[in-house]
Amino acid sequence: ALILGIESSCDETAVALVSSDRTILSHQLAGQEAAHAPYGGVVPEIAARAHADALPPLIEAALADAGVALRDVDAIAATAGPGLIGGVMVGLVTGKALALAAGKPLVAVNHLEGHALSPRLVDADLAFPYLLLLVSGGHCQLLLVKGVGSYARLATTIDDAAGEAFDKTAKLLGLGFPGGPAVERAAASGDARAVPLPRPLLGSAEPHFSFAGLKSAVARAADSGQYRAEDIAASFSQAVIDCLIDRTRRALAQAGEATALVVAGGVAANRGVRAALEQLAGEHGMRFVAPPLWLCTDNAAMIAWAGAERFAAGLTDPLDVAARPRWPLDPLAEPVRGAGV
Ligand code: ATP
Ligand code: MG
Ligand code: FE
Repeated sequence: ALILGIESSCDETAVALVSSDRTILSHQLAGQEAAHAPYGGVVPEIAARAHADALPPLIEAALADAGVALRDVDAIAATAGPGLIGGVMVGLVTGKALALAAGKPLVAVNHLEGHALSPRLVDADLAFPYLLLLVSGGHCQLLLVKGVGSYARLATTIDDAAGEAFDKTAKLLGLGFPGGPAVERAAASGDARAVPLPRPLLGSAEPHFSFAGLKSAVARAADSGQYRAEDIAASFSQAVIDCLIDRTRRALAQAGEATALVVAGGVAANRGVRAALEQLAGEHGMRFVAPPLWLCTDNAAMIAWAGAERFAAGLTDPLDVAARPRWPLDPLAEPVRGAGV
């Protein structure tokens, strides 16, 4: 089946055409960095407006690039949440309009399921269940991925997401937004042992993550004027990696049925994070799967692919399906200290 995917949940407008045999016929992406840069972060109203402007030409470009017509598409997949509600609604209503016009089924995709299933788009051998570290701008979770639509949350952050910590650190160091790639570049010429920083919850019996204390410590180090930005970036990155590895190691001990260790989400684009997880998987004699860098950060190929997996399972949605600004992957997971789901 051929699926057209639409992503608009944050500040990336994206459209892709993906087939269920894992061929990516086209993927188009329009970032909004310049529009948000003056504000130092994503402004929801500006994002929604930019998605509305960018989507029609991106859809045309994707179809032209793939050399297909809308009638050749078997289903339309659009992100229906979680994310900034204005942007999600723009993408979802566009998906509904296309589905209605072409007489094709709609698949309302959870953006996090897009990230979670993205490794299967590039690895046909990745079977359920797998242990997933989902590390992105808004989430930091360990999930046992049991199947399409079937997720058990083993851990989540009790305060900030890892990507959020990267973005905050970049801001403190004056490196710009989005922060992850900038911090990674600065860290490459820094000394990871130069700045003493905490590793919250390292070795803790509870399963969760925490990055707020690390963020505060980075702010103090930056304010002190004692350290080079490169050294803070490198020390911060190492602290995040140590936390991610410690918590993932703990989860591995409880996820004996997992066939592979998998990472997804924007922070999975960090080479240090990938290398450390690969080593951890090796220690456990497990396969390690990470999507290529462009598939880690927001894109529509992962939404089209999640749409393909759901479509194959018969999971399509009515045209009046609602956008959901909050939408946990594991509906049974309890909120942790009022923080992330
Ligand atoms: P969510 O998926 O939780 O809704 P999001 O869609 O905004 O959030 P993603 O696009 O999945 O987030 O990931 C973006 C995050 O990834 C940002 O916080 C960004 O700083 C971080 N990131 C991107 N590249 C890197 C990198 N090379 N190293 C570290 N962090 C990175
Ligand atoms: Mg973004
Ligand atoms: Fe994302």
